[in-house]
Amino acid sequence: MSVKVTYRIFTQGFLLNIKMLFIFLVGFLLPFATCAVSQDKNGIKVLTYKASPEGFMSNSHLIVGDTEAMLIDAQFSPEDGRNVADLIDSEGKKLTKIIITHPHPDHYYGLELLGARFKDAEILGGPRTTEEVRKTIRYWGGEQNYAPTAALDGQSFRFEGVDITYVIFKDGESVENTVLYVPSEEVLFTGDLASNGVHMWLGEGRPDNWLGQLKTLGSIGPASRVYPGHGDSGNSDLLAQAEKYISDFRWTVGESKTYDDALERMKSLYPVYEMPQILEGSIRAAVSTVDDQK
Ligand SMILES: [Zn+2]
Repeated sequence: MSVKVTYRIFTQGFLLNIKMLFIFLVGFLLPFATCAVSQDKNGIKVLTYKASPEGFMSNSHLIVGDTEAMLIDAQFSPEDGRNVADLIDSEGKKLTKIIITHPHPDHYYGLELLGARFKDAEILGGPRTTEEVRKTIRYWGGEQNYAPTAALDGQSFRFEGVDITYVIFKDGESVENTVLYVPSEEVLFTGDLASNGVHMWLGEGRPDNWLGQLKTLGSIGPASRVYPGHGDSGNSDLLAQAEKYISDFRWTVGESKTYDDALERMKSLYPVYEMPQILEGSIRAAVSTVDDQK
C-alpha cells in the first residue's frame, strides 16, 4: 500500500504543484544544465542534454544523422524542453522522432513544448507510456497532439540507414521502460534502467524484475557505449553498476532498523552520488513497505 501511496504522492505532487514549481525553477535551470557530444563507432553522433538537479538531471539524447535527427526523452521543465529544442535547431536537421522511454515526469513533461516546436516529429512510446502521457496532457488541458502519436510495436525501425532495435520492459524501475539498441554502433540507450553517478528511483518496489531486466540487457549484444537516463554516458559497466546499486539498496533496507539507518548506510556506500532526494524517496517507500509486511 505505501509504495502505491508514495508513488501517487510523487506523481500527483508534481501535477498539483507543477505551475508553482516551474516558476521557481526557471531562474535556476540554465546555469547547471550541460550538453555532451559523442561520436560512436561508425560515426553516429549523439548529443546528450543533461538537466540541472532541479530538472532531476534527466538526460535527453539526440541522435543526429545526415539529414534527420531523433530525440530520446523530453525533459521535465519547459525551460529544459526549450533548451533541447534549441539544441535540435542548432544541428540544422529535421527532427523526425521523439521517443519517450518511460512515463516518469522528468522524461516527458517538456514534451508539450517540444511537440509544439516540432510538429512534424512522430512522438512514440510503449503502450503504457503512451497512455500515461496522454492522461497527464488531458489533466493539463493541453494539446493531445503533443502526446505520443502511436505506441511502439514491433522490434525495430530504420533511422538514417541504421537499424535501431528496441525492447519494452514492464514493471521494473517504472511500469514500463523502452530500451533502444543500435547493433551496428554497439550503442545502448537504457532509459532509467541504468544511471551514472545519480541515485536510482526504487520507490515502486520491483527490484527483482529490474535486476532480471538488467540481465536481459547484458545479453542484448555488445555495447561499447551506454547512454543512461541520468548521468554521463559510459561503457557496459553501467549495467553492472546498476545491478550492484539495486542489490545494495535491497540489502540495506532489509538490514536497517529505521529510515535514518538505511539512509546513512546507502549514503556511505554511495557518497558521491547525486540527487539524494531520489534516494530519500526510495527508502521512505521501501521502509514503509517492510513495516506493512510486519
Ligand atoms: Zn528519470
